[in-house]
Amino acid sequence: MRAIRRRDSGAERALRSKLHAMGLRFRVDYPIPIHGRKPRADIVFTRRRLAVFVDGCFWHGCPIHGGRPKRNSIYWDAKIARNRERDAEQSARLAASGWTVVRVWEHEDPTIAAQHISHVLTNART
Ligand SMILES: [Zn+2]
Repeated sequence: MRAIRRRDSGAERALRSKLHAMGLRFRVDYPIPIHGRKPRADIVFTRRRLAVFVDGCFWHGCPIHGGRPKRNSIYWDAKIARNRERDAEQSARLAASGWTVVRVWEHEDPTIAAQHISHVLTNART
């Protein structure tokens, strides 16, 4: 969720520098024009229509690190469930417009994530 999300997380920066080192060029925090809406993705390959989101483990409910604070657990459960719903909707909207969506957890190894993205780019239709 953009409003509460730290701009330029360490995970995102690490992934960007790996992609860059692989010779890949992309846009950062780019609004994708689809059906009047412009969902912003963290890393966007415009020509290949590939949108990459780097999801924070807490805000997006990572299955490994998505533990909730004990206090106000109902509040957090609902809030994170909403974020996850929004993520899924956003991915579905982009896919419906011919975009490929890759979601990366902030805990993922940036080298492996970059290799995955490069693989997807190789196989994505142009
Ligand atoms: Zn995680």
